[in-house]
This record gives sequence, C-alpha cells and structure tokens, in this order.
Amino acid sequence: MVSAVEVPSTLGFTSAASLDAVYGDGTAARVHSSRILVVGAGGVGCELVKNLASTGFSHITLIDLDTIDVSNLNRQFLFRKHHVGKSKAVEAAATITAMVPSTEIEGIVGNIKDTKFGISFFKSFNIVCCALDNLEARRHVNRMCLAADVPMIESGSTGYVGQTSVVAKGFECYDCTTRPQPKSYAVCTIRSTPEKPVHCVVWAKFLYELIFGPDDDGNVLKDLDMDTGRAANEASASIPDTEKTGPKEDAKKGKEPVKAPQANGHENGHSEQSTENNGTVIAPKSKRVRYAEGEDPEEFAKRVCELVFVTDIEKQRKMTELWQERAPPLVYDVGGVVDNLSEEFKQPNLSDQTSWTKEKSAVVFRETLKHIASHRKEEVGNLTFDKDDKDALMFVCAASNLRSHAYGVPLQSPFAVKGIAGNIVHAIATTNAVVGGLIVQEALKVMANNGDVRDCLTTFVSKAPVGARVMKILYPEQLRKKNEKCFVCSKGHLQLILDLEKTKLRTVVNTVLQKRMCVLQPTVNLTAGEYHNTLYECGVGLEADEIEEYEQNLEKSLQELRVTDGSELVVSDLAQNLSCTVHVSHASGLYEDKAEWERFRLEGKIQEAEVDTNGVRSEDDSTEDVDDECLEVPVQEMEGSCAAAPNTSVAIADEANVTVTAEGEDRGGKKRSLDHAENGRLDGEPESKKMRGEERESMEAENR
Ligand SMILES: [Zn+2]
Repeated sequence: MVSAVEVPSTLGFTSAASLDAVYGDGTAARVHSSRILVVGAGGVGCELVKNLASTGFSHITLIDLDTIDVSNLNRQFLFRKHHVGKSKAVEAAATITAMVPSTEIEGIVGNIKDTKFGISFFKSFNIVCCALDNLEARRHVNRMCLAADVPMIESGSTGYVGQTSVVAKGFECYDCTTRPQPKSYAVCTIRSTPEKPVHCVVWAKFLYELIFGPDDDGNVLKDLDMDTGRAANEASASIPDTEKTGPKEDAKKGKEPVKAPQANGHENGHSEQSTENNGTVIAPKSKRVRYAEGEDPEEFAKRVCELVFVTDIEKQRKMTELWQERAPPLVYDVGGVVDNLSEEFKQPNLSDQTSWTKEKSAVVFRETLKHIASHRKEEVGNLTFDKDDKDALMFVCAASNLRSHAYGVPLQSPFAVKGIAGNIVHAIATTNAVVGGLIVQEALKVMANNGDVRDCLTTFVSKAPVGARVMKILYPEQLRKKNEKCFVCSKGHLQLILDLEKTKLRTVVNTVLQKRMCVLQPTVNLTAGEYHNTLYECGVGLEADEIEEYEQNLEKSLQELRVTDGSELVVSDLAQNLSCTVHVSHASGLYEDKAEWERFRLEGKIQEAEVDTNGVRSEDDSTEDVDDECLEVPVQEMEGSCAAAPNTSVAIADEANVTVTAEGEDRGGKKRSLDHAENGRLDGEPESKKMRGEERESMEAENR
C-alpha cells in the first residue's frame, strides 16, 4: 500500500532495524511513509500522537474542535498553562514537532462530522485512530472508515478501565452491538418529584437552557414558560408558529418579526392572555421565564425568581395526589432574600467543597441571572450548559440548591454540583497512557501486514489483575466477525413502529434518523406497494422548490405522505455511504402519554448469537432489540463520583469527558462492573466469557 522509500536508520526514537526485526521486513518503511489520522487531541489523543511520533510514524494529521482548558493540564501533557484557550489540535502538533522534529504533523481545528471531511479525505490515510469523547462522532467515523475502506483503531478510557479495538470490513463495527444506555430519569421525577441532588441538578440544567438557550420544545420545563396548566409536552405542540421559529426566522421569511416581550408587560398591555383555537392558554409575555431583549436585568431576575420558586411551586403543591406519601415542596421567596453577602461570596470558588446555604444560593442565583442578562447579551438565546462556563455552573449550582431546599433534598457544594452536572468519571492519566500504547501496537500490526487487520486484537484494560491461570490487567481477544444484521456494515433492516396518522415526518427525520440512527444528512425514499416517492432530502445541490417541498413534508403526518402499514423507507446518507431499509408498522395511539417526538419504537436485531473459539457462548450474544425508551431523560447518575478530593495521588480530572460509565446497571438490574474481578469471582471461568459477557459492555467507555 505504501511505495518504497529511503528509510532513515532511526524513526522517531525507534531504530528501523528493530521495527523490522520484531514486526517483519518492510514494516519500518511502511511506518515511515504511511499517513495516520488521529481524531481527538484529549487525554488519549495526547498520549497517542506522542507514541506515534516516537515510534516513527512520520505523517500525522490531528483533528480536534476543542480548546485547551486549565482542567486538561493534569494529564494532557502536551499542553502548558500558556496554552489555555488555544486549539488542542494546533498546540499538540506544535509540541510534537518540537519533541520529534522528523515528524510531519498537522493540527486541524475542526469537527470530524463536517461534510468537508468526506470519504476522499478518509481515503487519504492508511489508518484512522479514534481518540474521541462521544458516541455520535465515533459512530460517524466508523461509517466513514468503512466507506473509505481504511482500518479504524477505536479506543476508550474511563477511570481505571479502557479498551482498544480495530474496525475493518468484515469485522465487527461500532454499530454492530448496542451500547449501554446512560442512567436515565423519568420526566416526572425531574419536573415534579425530585428526591436526590442529581434530580435537582438535571432540572437546573434544563432551567438554564430554558431561560438562556435556543427555544426548544423538547425542554422538559417548557411548561414553565407557558401558563397552560398542561403537561409540558402537550402544551409545546400548540405554541403558535411565530413563537416556535422566533423573530430571526420570521424575518427571513419576510413576515412581521415577533416583538420582544416588554419587561413591564402590564403597563404595556401585554398582560392579556391570548387563547389559541384549541383552548391552550399562552402565558402573557411578562410571565415568561426567558430573557427578553432589552429587558431590565433587575426586573428579569425578580420575575424568574417569582415564577420558578413561588408560582410554579404553588402550582406543584396543588397537585395533591403527588403529596399523599411525601412532603409537598416549600415556597421560597428567592427574590426577597436580603443580600448581605460580601463581594467575595458573590464570586464563589467553584472548587469549594462546602455546601451552600439556601440564602447564599438565592443571592448567587439572582446575581447570576443579572450578570448573564447584562454582560452576555450577545449569547443569550444560544447558551447551552457547559460545565466549564463559570456563569452556567454558578447558575446550576444555585438553582439546583434552591430546588433541593424546596423538596427537602440535601444542598450541595459547587464541586459536587460540577461533578453531577458534568457526568464526571475522573480521568486517569495512567489508563490513557496504557490505551495510547495499545493503539500503536495495533497500528504496527496493520503496518506489518500491509494494511490487513488479521493480527489485530480487541484489548480490555481492567482495574485489577484478573484471570484463572495468569493474573493480568490486559485482556486481548480476537476481533469479532461483523454482525450480519448490523444496519451499518451488513445492510440489516430496522423496524419502526408508530402511529402513522399522528406522527409527523419531522419526528422520523430528527429523532429516529438523526438522533437514534446517527444519520447526518438523510434522504428518505418511500415504497408503499406500487407507490414510490422521495419524502425528504437535505444537503447541498437541492433546488429551491425541492427545499420548500421537503420542508413542507416535515410538517405532514406519515399518513398524509402515503406511508402505510408495511411500507418501506429506504434511508440513505451519501456522505456516510449508508443505505438502510426501515420497515414501518402502524400502531394506533402508541405511547400517547409521551411527548410527540417520543411516540415511536425502533427495533432491529442487531446482536447475534455467536459461538467463540472455545465453544463457549458469550453472555451478551442474545438477540437484543434496539428499544426506545424516550420517556426518560437521558442523563447519568454519577452521585458520589466527586466525593474524592481534587488532588489525590492519581491524576484526577475535575471535568467530565465521559458520558458512559464503566459501572452501571442494565435494565434488568444486573451489575456490570469490573469490581467483581477484584474479589476473584471470575476464577475458573473461561476468560473469553468473562470479558465478553459483562466487562466488554461495561467498558464501551468514553475517552479523555
Ligand atoms: Zn456493523
């Protein structure tokens, strides 16, 4: 695959002769001339590029969207204090160049999901190494590598456990198996009956985005912004279009933009309630919690305190059926708390491990509202929660504590709230180093076999030595064959069950295709008996009338679009080289108690029974359906994870880059944990069974 070139005697810090001696003749030459793409310059990424360069890989492209945060410095060792705020990819490349000058390394600031990184971009590399921190990007890179026919080395680390594996045509891909679902909570727990700090923190994150974020009908607190007296999800369906699209989009369409709500709505005649045809009452503008452009920050803060901690709590208290076996929430006049805190208290230290009082929470809450409204005007309307954004964290800490006070939940310190809000699993530099080393091992085997992955392995890094015969922390296993039912690598089919009459195409495109199936730019072709039609298409190259037609289709029900029970939707994405058949079934009134965009079930037999080389059936080989559980809020329970002091002997990150825990419970409540390995319960069992059955899934971990 690589043409012969003059090979220097030393590659990076490695002797070319020793590479050839260990991996076979020609390996050094291929290592020297191959092109490697590294996606992600975080904890694993930093280790990895250092290893690649020292081993002699001389042409490296490193891509990352992120900038360097001070909390990265304890383990992302290519960065120093003066790099904070700069691009990870660019600075990592510069450090590597200084460290190993013979390496040509390019740092690209960019999102790997950007369409400019198409199949031809991926094809220009011999190996793609994934050091990513999220599932969506991994699933995308997986598809791009399969389409470009380039071996992908995938990795993950979380706390003490980690994993590397290799994806190539014919072998198990990232979509072949189901991933463990993060711990989730019922909407009603978040909205009305919180019992733990984490419930209040999740609520506070939603509140932050409700007030300062993009208008989102999916926000579970949406009803706080409307005086409907109905559940959030039902009410959201009846917001007038002008409210949904907001002034900007209306202006584009040439319509009269919606006027910004006035702070003193009563005096300006904005207090009259408007009633929609279906009887839903939209709150007068002055009663909305969202910040309105030009509003006095003081008035705004007062209004939010009143609406959230007085009016809404009073409303909750009236739901008497909820309070038969638990205490009703307490109204707290947050706006009326006397501000006698010193300036120092108003600028709290976010690493503080002392729990806040309700008074302090009240003052900080008001101050943060005012601060964001007056100092970050430009961003209001587009803010989403970011654990590294000090204002966002102060808001969430204060709001969640006030919520906790109302519901009799213990109040928390900023340090604890940050841990919960960011789904923290402390990153450990040693695990990253082990994983970074394993990736290079696999890369060398690919080079030794001239691009073939036949000698590659999946390797698990465990927390403590385990084993029946030999105790070890690294567990290798053969790459698995691809799952013949996988919809990505094997043209497997999926089943979509929903109410054809009531479900809009928008739900199918946004939720089913883009969120659940991770299709970036879907094209949807319908076959219903003899009838064929393209229902949706997006991306570049569309005519204006096509764009308009597809936009209109999004608002139509599937029935209107002539989708019938038993129809087939062929979903394709040119960019990902993906094509998948989805069989549609009608289920009248399915999940009517759920929000409009959650009323579907997506099924596909994506795991297959398998017999391994020892004849032992692996434990996770049962055929499992992709079941949709959208009722729940997908957040993780990470209580206690931040109980450790910030500076213990191992490198501990005070940030969250991990969204899937190494430990957790599956739906049946079975513990999936590496801990059982420590007490030796695995002894006597075949190793492949141990690693495949429980730990494999538990280690589908995130990175950095
Ligand atoms: Zn697959």
